[in-house]
Amino acid sequence: MNEMLLLIILVTAIATGFFLGQKTKNKSRGRKVPLTENSLNKDYFTGLTYLLNDQQDQAIETFMRVLEINPETVDTHIAMGNLFRSKGETEKAIRLHQNLFARPTLSKPLTQQVQLELARDFFAAGLFDRAERLLLEITKAHSDDIRLQVLKLLLRIYEQEKEWQKAIDISGNRLLRDLPEQRIAIAHYYCELAEHLLKQNETIQAKKYLKQALYNDPNCIRANWSTAHLELKNKNIRKGKSLLLRIPQQDKRYYSLVLPELSSIMSEKELSPVLNEALEAFPSQTALSLKTNLIRQKHGARSSLEYLEAYSTRQQSASPYVATLEIQLIRELTPSEDIHGHLTQLEQQLTRYENKQHKSRCISCGFKSNHSPLWQCHKCRSWGTVRPDDML
Ligand SMILES: [Zn+2]
Repeated sequence: MNEMLLLIILVTAIATGFFLGQKTKNKSRGRKVPLTENSLNKDYFTGLTYLLNDQQDQAIETFMRVLEINPETVDTHIAMGNLFRSKGETEKAIRLHQNLFARPTLSKPLTQQVQLELARDFFAAGLFDRAERLLLEITKAHSDDIRLQVLKLLLRIYEQEKEWQKAIDISGNRLLRDLPEQRIAIAHYYCELAEHLLKQNETIQAKKYLKQALYNDPNCIRANWSTAHLELKNKNIRKGKSLLLRIPQQDKRYYSLVLPELSSIMSEKELSPVLNEALEAFPSQTALSLKTNLIRQKHGARSSLEYLEAYSTRQQSASPYVATLEIQLIRELTPSEDIHGHLTQLEQQLTRYENKQHKSRCISCGFKSNHSPLWQCHKCRSWGTVRPDDML
């Protein structure tokens, strides 16, 4: 709800209440109540003056003071608090929702709604402990809708606080268990736990967590990626390689993630056909750079350059990235200062292009990142949706 719409609702709600109040008084007392007797009337016009002077914050505060809290107006109070929160004014939102929450006359469902909004205010203010305490009190609310919102907010807190076990525990709730995307998230929580243990060389428990991850989401690429690292750590190179090679079968974009890893554990003879396969299935900057480097190391810069030129001709397109690789090789082959000056210029132009590039992109919301792998999207917070994105 936008600010102006909410103000209109407030003005109407107060005006209606005021008009009905006047009518009732007139009927019961049989006389006209002078306008000056009603302080509400004065505040109402003060609020209108603020509004006409475009002082919306002051107008809102004045109207909120005038609008009596009762079951009919509580939604407007809640909406106003939410508006403050969305504007980043969390202190005002907290004050308003706390004021509502303290009313003993509110029904239980309304109290729980206010409690949820107050928890959202605390969350927005970074007061996670206070938000968690409030939410835990209403996890057994009667309304499925409220309970689901409570559980989702608790998950956000646990994700933010990296409380992965708590996130797993709460995901066992019936309402969340039925959400397919939550099973994907649970797999990532187990991966988080496993990766933490892997850093401390506790591979046995880490392996159990990774199995749990795959049990919850058999397509979890991250679980395969971490299991491959676990095997490599345990010197099971063959198993590690085979697990890494399995990842691009799930999504070809992941060649860009596994190829650098494979290049450090595979011989030139093993790696070359894998790179050819990758360039065929998903022509990426990573694959082409590794392939050119491999040729350069074995046959020299000239052969590498010839390969790139043939590759460009085959592709029938000029990629700035291919041009960058070509320039690097030409510099290596031609020591002339004149050519170097010209190439430096070209390189600077291409570097500017390169700097605009990103390594990965979220397939859910389009968020671009320079990190890879990135398992949770920073924008939409989905798990496993940020994929490598360096296609030529
Ligand atoms: Zn996203």
